[in-house]
Amino acid sequence: MIKRRQFIQGSANTLLFSMLLGSKNSLFAQSASMQGPAFTWKELRGGISLFSERGGTIAVLKTKDGYAVVDTQFPDQSQHVIDELKKQSDQKIQLLMNTHHHGDHTSGNIAFKGLVNRVVAHENSLKNQIAAATKAKTEEKQYYPTETFKDTWTTKIGKERIRAHYFGPAHTDGDVAIHFEHANVVHLGDLFGNKRYPIIDRSAGASVANWIHVNDKIQKHFDKDTIFTYGHAFNPTEITCKKEDLMALTDYLEKLIIHVSSEIKSGKTKEEVMKLTAVNGVQGMNGDFLKNNFQMAYEELTEKNTKQ
Ligand SMILES: [Zn+2]
Repeated sequence: MIKRRQFIQGSANTLLFSMLLGSKNSLFAQSASMQGPAFTWKELRGGISLFSERGGTIAVLKTKDGYAVVDTQFPDQSQHVIDELKKQSDQKIQLLMNTHHHGDHTSGNIAFKGLVNRVVAHENSLKNQIAAATKAKTEEKQYYPTETFKDTWTTKIGKERIRAHYFGPAHTDGDVAIHFEHANVVHLGDLFGNKRYPIIDRSAGASVANWIHVNDKIQKHFDKDTIFTYGHAFNPTEITCKKEDLMALTDYLEKLIIHVSSEIKSGKTKEEVMKLTAVNGVQGMNGDFLKNNFQMAYEELTEKNTKQ
């Protein structure tokens, strides 16, 4: 408990992190850990597989010229990934990428230090990771991106071309969609969460309204055959989907904005809005972040009203 309380002190990121520790996924991992490592590997296609244990899922590309890894959960989980990769072949890890900076996607970067020299993320992801680590005094536990970009970034490993796309602020202001083009698999990080209330991290530049635009861009850019993977799902086994399934998030975010806008028009305060227990017209969403969603939408919408 003391450890948990220490986590809760400090930044909003640390708070999010501690809430993630209390999520269904981590409980699943903890209960299973009594029988040994709780991780699962899901083979997708084209040499891509998806690792889950605790934190945002990790995508791994295996080629005859080496591995690429996207996201790192926490140090122990990353060590499980590294151990598995070593068992499979003696190929080197050529590339590590982060979908965004949150601790449940980047805390394990440190386990890759010395194994991979190339760590790639969006420029805002690096900025956010440094800010969060400085605030939480965990700078020495970070392995920061060594290369950043603004709009797109690409490289080739084996026969696979990897391209990262930045579509603008959404869950944070540094989320990217990472496309394995040959396999046609995209890792979305936290740009989507299956049947879970999304985390809207305004302390790291998130935007509800722009997240809808980002999802529109994803709809336009990828095709109906693309397999999408993402960080979290309410049911831990449901960690891939098709393009049309992503529209559930657009639908949710639109209904959130409509509901909160009407509450603001009727004169409700932020505290009153945060006490609401459901978004009008929304069913099938779960998790701890409904209150966060109401708060973030309220702050975003009233900020805009002030500017007009
Ligand atoms: Zn996140």
